[in-house]
Amino acid sequence: MITIQDIRNARENIHDTIHTTPILQSSQLSKLCENNVFLKCEHLQKTGSFKIRGATNKVKQVAKEGAELVTAASSGNHGQAVSFIAEQLGIPATIVVPTDVNPCKMSAIEAYDGKIVKCGTTSAERIPRAIEIAEDQNGVFIPPYDDPYIMAGQGTTGLEILDQMPDVDAVVIPIGGGGLISGILTTLKETNPNIKVYGVEPETANDTFLSLKNAQITSIPATSTIADGLRASQPGDMTFPVIQKYVDDLVLVSDDEIRQAFSFVMERMKQVIEPSSAVTIAALLNKKLPLEGKKVVTVISGGNVDLARISTLMVGTETIC
Ligand SMILES: *Cc1c(COP(=O)(O)O)cnc(C)c1O
Repeated sequence: MITIQDIRNARENIHDTIHTTPILQSSQLSKLCENNVFLKCEHLQKTGSFKIRGATNKVKQVAKEGAELVTAASSGNHGQAVSFIAEQLGIPATIVVPTDVNPCKMSAIEAYDGKIVKCGTTSAERIPRAIEIAEDQNGVFIPPYDDPYIMAGQGTTGLEILDQMPDVDAVVIPIGGGGLISGILTTLKETNPNIKVYGVEPETANDTFLSLKNAQITSIPATSTIADGLRASQPGDMTFPVIQKYVDDLVLVSDDEIRQAFSFVMERMKQVIEPSSAVTIAALLNKKLPLEGKKVVTVISGGNVDLARISTLMVGTETIC
């Protein structure tokens, strides 16, 4: 398992590349959630999500070890992050994307000089292709979450939260493959175990929820939740034991609840976030967590939403306001 020292080393390694993101507070949101709610704004991070933290930590490491290429199998935030940092370091990046890739996402990767290879429609097809391309060209495949350098990089978000809000009572985090939450859990629980940490998953992407319940890694079939960054089919071999050891609870939210929270943040707080980031707000607005009158930080994990699609994701917020 990674330790707090790995996360401190990661901070040293990445601080000249990433932003220290601000924390925002909303009185209206706080009132509705019956807690003092703060947003850790990783949607304002370089490349639009926290993924640049882990990607930077890992790609700098493999560059030091002589990698001549990096590859990834993600058309989303991880693919953008890997191509961005590879360009900064002057290493070529090849990103394997599905044949039906969203053109906006593809152009974001190309803007960072990443080379696109199209392959299949599932990650089960893309990952072996990305590994093969890396092996052929003295390169390294960069996994999206199940890697100690990635997890330690994501955990630096927790160090910033402690610096910015040392008296925080609870932190609420979205879960995909579990890289973000396992890094932040390590930081917070090894610093102050009294800080509560809660995970949130969409109801139909409840692989970590089921894995905790079954006390073993459990996979689920493909899902189409609007929180597209959280569609992992199972938690990682390295991330799951950390979640199992430290997380205080994990709750589920429906796509309707995600839409409502997403619309609230866009409309009332004027922040462009992506649906995956809205799950934590959805959990708080719907009182799914055992918190009242507390200082709560929610990690707003990313802001890469296709603007042309926003109207299909928005709902009226009058029912909650
Ligand atoms: C990747 C991602 C997540 C989930 O992170 P994991 O480390 O896979 O749990 C959440 N939100 C956004 C915006 C992401 O890009």
